[in-house]
Amino acid sequence: MTERTKIILDESEIPAQWYNVIPDLPAPPPPVLHPGTLQPVGPDDLAPLFPMELIGQEVTGDSYVAIPGEVMDVYRLWRPTPLYRARRLERALHTPARIYYKYEGVSPAGSHKPNTAVPQAFYNSREGTKRLTTETGAGQWGSALAFACAQFALDCEIWMVRASYDQKPHRRTLMETWGATVHASPSRATTAGAKVLAEQPDSPGSLGIAISEAVEAAGGSADTRYALGSVLNHVLLHQTVIGEEALKQFSQAGEAAPDLIVGCTGGGSNFAGLFLPFLREKLAGRGSPVIRAVEPSACPSFTRGRYAYDFGDTAGFTPLLKMHTLGHEFIPDPVHAGGLRYHGMSPLLSHMYELGLFEAVAKPQRECFAAAVTFARSEGILPAPEPSHALAAVVEEAKRCAESGEEKVILTALCGHGYFDMTAYERYLSGEMTDFELPQDRIDAALARLPGAG
Ligand SMILES: *Cc1c(COP(=O)(O)O)cnc(C)c1O
Repeated sequence: MTERTKIILDESEIPAQWYNVIPDLPAPPPPVLHPGTLQPVGPDDLAPLFPMELIGQEVTGDSYVAIPGEVMDVYRLWRPTPLYRARRLERALHTPARIYYKYEGVSPAGSHKPNTAVPQAFYNSREGTKRLTTETGAGQWGSALAFACAQFALDCEIWMVRASYDQKPHRRTLMETWGATVHASPSRATTAGAKVLAEQPDSPGSLGIAISEAVEAAGGSADTRYALGSVLNHVLLHQTVIGEEALKQFSQAGEAAPDLIVGCTGGGSNFAGLFLPFLREKLAGRGSPVIRAVEPSACPSFTRGRYAYDFGDTAGFTPLLKMHTLGHEFIPDPVHAGGLRYHGMSPLLSHMYELGLFEAVAKPQRECFAAAVTFARSEGILPAPEPSHALAAVVEEAKRCAESGEEKVILTALCGHGYFDMTAYERYLSGEMTDFELPQDRIDAALARLPGAG
């Protein structure tokens, strides 16, 4: 085994194609339904929102999709990303486990999100879109799309969840520097936002509300479309560059397959991007990693949600998606991991969870910040609050290995840095951070409002 700390690939080793897991699954995922007719949606239903190329990628039966040269040129600004062996963290935890993390925080926006923002902006510009609208929770997706729109000369208008807008003013400035317009959501700029404000003037907002606003703003103008940073199949597809690179880096590190793959899940895209290529290998009989999703206890869609058809947004503008959901009207407590405050989950991952292809756990935020601080003091990099959920599960497993003596190989995605999340770290370090108990009756009340739950 080599003694390398980080495994870096050459630019020529950026994957040439994205991997689509759907043809490899034992059963296809259920269709997306039109809320009026309850029939599967067709390309015409989606055309006002998305360019045709992305609609095609959403339903493609091909195992691979080639990455266009224009996208590759932009990817080269930060890809391939490094895979680190967390030797200092291992030492701090006195564990015989070998811990690896794939670091996506080296992108211009500081997370994995540009992996999909860049192709989305590219396909939109090629099909004549002039302006993209979107929502952002923690500000990571908004930053990524603002950066990508600047690369392809598109206008960009962003609804940022109020709780994050207040906690992270510098994320907004970053988006504005790249040329985007940013609204706090709920806003009075849309009917959906104004309706929420009329009922609750101090609403902290939610991703569901911000999606309603961005979708509403995209409708009604032919050269404006909408972009989504997670959840959909084409987003998960684009993120597979993470896992494809990690596969190569793993073998360069002298490792066979990992024993455990851990990722945090908001809508599921960084987790899927990391594990799907490893799952392909597992299904082909090469390795058998346990695969574990980690979600916040304050927004536990896999572990406490229901697998049912629901809207992707709060106002009910989107098609119906079959997914693990807490109900589209569920508003999570304002935990600091804003990127994980989504009521639903990727329909593809939800389907795969039902098939038993991976497991899920939920973590309260203080345990996650404790792991993030341990990580920062050993490895140096300050993790974003979202991947600190994955780190909490990594630390838990590594401590288990310290007791049992098992030399497990653990792989996780450090999908973003936390340098814009100082308010959250300040709250944690000063002891002001609290965990939120999520009472069952709040989940029950939101689930009673599922479409068709009558
Ligand atoms: C957006 C975001 C998430 C949550 O989204 P996924 O689609 O589940 O990956 C997690 N971490 C970071 C750093 C993010 O920016």
